Amino acid sequence: MKMIGMLGGMSWESTNTYYRAVNEGVKQALGGLHSARVLLYSVDFAEIEALQHQGDWDRLAEILIGAARSLEAGGADFLVICTNTMHKVAPRIAQAVNIPILHLADATAASLKADSVTSVGLLGTRFTMEESFYRERLEAQGIRVVIPDVADRQRVHEIIYNELCRGVIKSGSRQAYLEVMERMVGEGAEAVILGCTEIGLLIHQADTVIPLYDTTLIHAQQAVVWALNQS
Ligand code: GLU
Repeated sequence: MKMIGMLGGMSWESTNTYYRAVNEGVKQALGGLHSARVLLYSVDFAEIEALQHQGDWDRLAEILIGAARSLEAGGADFLVICTNTMHKVAPRIAQAVNIPILHLADATAASLKADSVTSVGLLGTRFTMEESFYRERLEAQGIRVVIPDVADRQRVHEIIYNELCRGVIKSGSRQAYLEVMERMVGEGAEAVILGCTEIGLLIHQADTVIPLYDTTLIHAQQAVVWALNQS
């Protein structure tokens, strides 16, 4: 079994979900006492969040490159960046290490394509919803991406940083997200990507009839596939 190198702590609330999901995936595949081989580098998210909002993506890339190199030196066979947003610097990390990155947007696009979804709503941080680094990976696969309007994007973003990344789950915020999702369906979305790794803590498939694609679970499941692929 390959060793999964997890770049986590962004936030730790969702890294927790990743850790459980990869172990459950390996247990389901191999049974018995099998569990995932994981090396985790968990950063201090306060520093990451401050740099994001200052727009210092060069420093953010440096921090994650240092962490990625530590994982590689420690024996990780591939990298899983446990946040959608920080995939903004994924190309720079990829250039700095010799092990592959399991890209979250690619894993999500594959999952959407397998279900023949051609138009999808995207929820995430403003960085993920508004910039091209994430959406273009989906669009390259022929998937149309619908994002919320500016007021909804701001609300979704604030709930991520002020609540979900702090472990705060509020029913009013769940309702707000459900309403944003309905509006994206009104714009033609057939399904919605939970494109921030903490949103699955707030919204579950049982809350809505809109098909949901939870990036944390998709990414973790694909990490298990890579870990168990011996080729
Ligand atoms: N975990 C979140 C994401 O998937 C947001 C936190 C971050 O900015 O990394 O985008």
